Amino acid sequence: MDCSELKRWLQETDAARLAELWRRADAARRASVGDAVHLRGLVEISNNCVRHCHYCGLRAPNRRLTRYRMAADEIMTCVRQAVRFGYGTVVLQSGEDPGLTTGWVAELVRRIKSQTDLAVTLSLGEREADELGAWREAGADRYLLRFETSNRLLYEQIHPPRAGCASDRMVLLRVLRELGYEVGSGVMIGIPGQTFADLAADIALFRTLDLDMIGVGPYLPHPDTPLARDQGIKGSKGRGEQPEGPGLAGADVGSSLSRFANPSADQVPSDELTTYKAIALARLVCPGANIPSTTALATINRANGRELGLARGANIIMPNLTPLGYRRCYEIYPAKACLYETAEQCRHCLERRIAALGRTIGRGRGDSPNLRARAAVCAAKGAGSRDG
Ligand code: SAH
Repeated sequence: MDCSELKRWLQETDAARLAELWRRADAARRASVGDAVHLRGLVEISNNCVRHCHYCGLRAPNRRLTRYRMAADEIMTCVRQAVRFGYGTVVLQSGEDPGLTTGWVAELVRRIKSQTDLAVTLSLGEREADELGAWREAGADRYLLRFETSNRLLYEQIHPPRAGCASDRMVLLRVLRELGYEVGSGVMIGIPGQTFADLAADIALFRTLDLDMIGVGPYLPHPDTPLARDQGIKGSKGRGEQPEGPGLAGADVGSSLSRFANPSADQVPSDELTTYKAIALARLVCPGANIPSTTALATINRANGRELGLARGANIIMPNLTPLGYRRCYEIYPAKACLYETAEQCRHCLERRIAALGRTIGRGRGDSPNLRARAAVCAAKGAGSRDG
């Protein structure tokens, strides 16, 4: 499928054609990853963040947020809960928090790997190659880093770099692959200024990057961010945010504002239907990837967003294990689904939803078939070079 075909599907409105897309994606999912839905227990270990991303409520200048960093013992309690619940993976996610030092994270990963059989996924933002290497050596299996949009200009507008360092997530994705991580990435759907051609290019890039995990979810405005304010969404201006420093986020607000003055017909909507299309197309271009039905999707359709994601290409759910007191503070966007359910309630609710779809709960780590295929190619190459 080339970019123009991907774009046509993203703009498709005919119900019968869309039913055909869902059928094809579901068949590809069944053929390549089967009926098992793997559960990854998510622990949001810190909401401290040094970045100024225009879309995210954790951004450093947002002073309305009560900041926290979980202690290693608190995280281990969540990890043991993941084991008790039969989850195969624990995902540790955070803002970009230098307080999560290289050594501390490495020690935590070592502790989890020595005490459990869980796969460990990290999602700690843009970190140095040597840190990523140290964590891999400590036993981390996977890393999630969404590239958010492949449109370079739009990316730079919504994701200002740290002072003095370029932000190149593509380079980091290559580093992660070279270090032997299972690599996950993805995008937000409907970022203001994102066109259908952009989103088609994003999906084509999933294939080029040969991703092991692909996460896509609707962009949801957070009132205490510049992007939402550009959209005219009222926040807590004056109370919440520090003024932006020069050369950081403040400089480009004007250009994003002008996008809102003239939203084009080519603007991707941040809606449910477009998210399902992106999930289905991601499955068709990367049949062997693990694709979650995301919390952002469940947030815009609480009744059955997760189920529809699973029926249209997804095979992963990430139940939240973060203690409730912290979970409220991990507000990347407002009114996240499952904000008040305990880990136990989340687990029962998800198990019921999965069973109702006629799907099963995955056992074990749920590695991506892509990874297995790459390992087989490497082994064959090794054998070839030995034979030769
Ligand atoms: N600091 C880490 C983890 C960020 S949260 C990192 O930057 O990789 C994980 C994902 O949430 C982000 O990659 C982004 O795609 C998504 N996200 C952030 N703000 C969002 C918003 N307002 N609406 C929808 N998704 C959002």
